[in-house]
Amino acid sequence: MQQRSQSPIPLKVLVGIATLLVPVLGTLCGSGSTAAAELQAGAATACITPPLGEPIVGGFHPFPAEHIHDDLHARCLVLDDGETQLAVVICDLLGIHRSVSDEARRLIASETGIPPQQVLIAATHTHSATTALGGTGDERFVPLLEELSDYQAFVARRIADGVRCAANLLRPAELAIGQVEAPEHVFNRRWFMRPGSMPENPFGSADDLVKMNPPRGSANLDRPAGPTDPTISFLAIREAEGRPLALLATYSLHYVGGVPRGHVSADYFGVVCRELERRVDREPSDPPFVAMLANGTSGDINNINFREPAPRRQPYEQMRLVAEDVAVKLAKTAGGLTYSRDWPLAARYQELRVAARHPTEREASWAEESLPAADTPDAAKTLSEIYAERVQALAHQPEMLDVPLQVLAIGSARIGTMPCEIFSEIGLDFRRRGGGQPSFLVSLAHGYLGYLPTPRQHDLGGYETWPGTNRLDRDASDRMLDALVEMASTLVPAADASSTSDKAP
Ligand SMILES: [Zn+2]
Repeated sequence: MQQRSQSPIPLKVLVGIATLLVPVLGTLCGSGSTAAAELQAGAATACITPPLGEPIVGGFHPFPAEHIHDDLHARCLVLDDGETQLAVVICDLLGIHRSVSDEARRLIASETGIPPQQVLIAATHTHSATTALGGTGDERFVPLLEELSDYQAFVARRIADGVRCAANLLRPAELAIGQVEAPEHVFNRRWFMRPGSMPENPFGSADDLVKMNPPRGSANLDRPAGPTDPTISFLAIREAEGRPLALLATYSLHYVGGVPRGHVSADYFGVVCRELERRVDREPSDPPFVAMLANGTSGDINNINFREPAPRRQPYEQMRLVAEDVAVKLAKTAGGLTYSRDWPLAARYQELRVAARHPTEREASWAEESLPAADTPDAAKTLSEIYAERVQALAHQPEMLDVPLQVLAIGSARIGTMPCEIFSEIGLDFRRRGGGQPSFLVSLAHGYLGYLPTPRQHDLGGYETWPGTNRLDRDASDRMLDALVEMASTLVPAADASSTSDKAP
C-alpha cells in the first residue's frame, strides 16, 4: 500500500512554530498521552453566512441566494488534556474545499499553536448554503486551488477565529461519551426495483440495478440496497462545576430539506443545535453552550420513507420534526451519563494516495457525442449534458489523488474522517473495526471528493456510482477504511477513560 504522511502547510511554517510547540509536537505521530491529565475545553461559534447573491449549489442548477432564513456557522470545540490540544470545527456548508481547510488550519496553527494534524474541519452538507467548494462547476475538483474565492477566504478566516475564541475560553471540564438510537428518521435511498421498472439513466442505459430516490409509495419498489446507521454518537462536555459547555454529535442523515428556493439555511443541523442550546442551557450561561452536529455516513441515506406516499409539509416543517426529536434524545441521554476529567487526547493525519476514476472508452465516446452546444446556458442543460461535461472533466483528473484521512482519539473514542459522502455500510464497518469505544466516522472533512460507495455498491450502479458523481477508483473505500483502521490502532488506547465513563452503547 502506497501511503505517505504529509503536512498540508509548508514545512517552514511548521518549523517556525515548532519552537513554541515542543510539548504538542510530541503527539504529532499519534502517540497519545499516558499521564492522567485534567481535561480543559472551550467552545465558540463563528458566523459564516454569505452575502445574498452568491450561488446556492445543493442541486444540479445553481441559483442565487435571495433570503437568509437562518445564519450559517462554524461551530468550534477545543479540547486540551494538558499535553495535547485537539480542535473540531463543523461548518454549515454543502462541502468544503481542501484548500479552505488547509488555509484555516494554517491560520489556526500560527495563531493558537494547535498543529494542523490535530484540527478536524468538516461540512454538515446542508444543501441550502452557498459554495465554499470553489465555483459551481468542476473547479471544485481542482485538488489544490491557487487562490481562494472571497467567500472561501472569509470562511477560512472565520473558522480560525472561531477556534481561537474557543481556545480563549478553555476551562477545566468534564466529558462523557454517549450513544443513542434514532432509526425512525433514516432511510436507505437506493432501491432495487421490480423487473422492467428501472428508468433510463442519463447515459441512455437501464443497466443500473438500483435507483436512487425512487418514487415514494410506488408499487415497483422491491427492497433497499443497503443498511442505515441509526446510531447518534456524541461527546458531551461540561464545566468542572457542572454547567454545560458543548455537545458534539454525529448522525448519518444526508440532510432534510424543505427549504424554499433561494433561502440560505443550515437545514436540520442548525435546528438540532438551536434546540439543544434551548434545552440544555436553560438559563443561558456565559460563555454560551455550543451544540455541534456533524454528518456521519449518509452518502446513501436520507429522510424519505419510500414505502409511504409523501405527507404534505410546510417549508421547514419536516426538518423541525426530525431535529426536535434528535435534540430531545440527545439532551435526555447526555443528562444520564457519568462525566470524567481523564480523557487523554491524540490525533493522526495522513494523505493516502488513491487512484482517481477516469472514464472508460465507452463513457468517453458517449460524453463526446452528448455534450451540450457551447452556448447552452447552465440552467438549460439536460441531465445527460451535465453528465457529459462531468465525464469529460474526469478525464482531466490526475492519475492519483492525495486523500486526507484523520483519526482523533478522545479517551476511548476514535473519530475517523474522510473527504467524501460516505456510504452507511462503511460507517458501520468502522464502528466494528475502529478499535474505539465507540468508533465513528465524520464525512466531508478536509475536502470534497464526491460520493464514496463500497465496491459492492459500485456493482449495483445508480446515481452515487455514476462517473462524475463518483470520482475515486472502485476499491477506494476499502483502501481508505483499512488506512483509518490502521491509524486508529496506533493511537494509545485509553482504558482508564473508558472505565470511568458510563457509556450507553
Ligand atoms: Zn449529497
